[in-house]
Amino acid sequence: MTLHRAWVGLGSNLDDPRRHIERALEELDRLPLTRRLMASRLHVSRPVGPQDQPDFINAVALLETRLSPLALLDQLQALEQAHRRVRARRWGPRTLDLDLLLFDDSVLALPRLRVPHPELTHRTFVVLPLLELAPDLVLPDGRPLAPLASRLPSDDPTPVLPGA
Ligand code: AMP
Repeated sequence: MTLHRAWVGLGSNLDDPRRHIERALEELDRLPLTRRLMASRLHVSRPVGPQDQPDFINAVALLETRLSPLALLDQLQALEQAHRRVRARRWGPRTLDLDLLLFDDSVLALPRLRVPHPELTHRTFVVLPLLELAPDLVLPDGRPLAPLASRLPSDDPTPVLPGA
């Protein structure tokens, strides 16, 4: 089985979103046939859409995996569900959002899975942590990511949490 490199975006805006992201980063490292190579610092961002909800904590992780893209998506969705079970009892929605951002240089347009993630280049809270880990990242279509960062909304500073 081939060894792949997969970039995953994490987001949470629960009461204690930082704990959810830190736990999810550990869980990503324990997925079958997978290990986590890198994780960004934790970035704070304003919610997309309705503003009457708490800020998000976001991070990006680089995984090395022998899973196929769909098998990895299954694992990510199972992790989301595990966090949702906790949240269904006590908290509102959006405990943990996991997005498969990039998978090698694959371009996929499957019913369940689009890679690169369609919103990747539009979201400051994805682009900045990605560039933190991989300043020279090039998208599958050949575009370097770094120049795209300057076109992102400047009203979203995505500060980094102290100690993260
Ligand atoms: P959301 O919870 O809003 O992020 O959307 C999850 C849905 O998006 C699921 O039904 C996935 O099958 C689908 N999806 C499509 N492409 C991706 C991707 N690259 N990463 C995560 N989910 C994806």
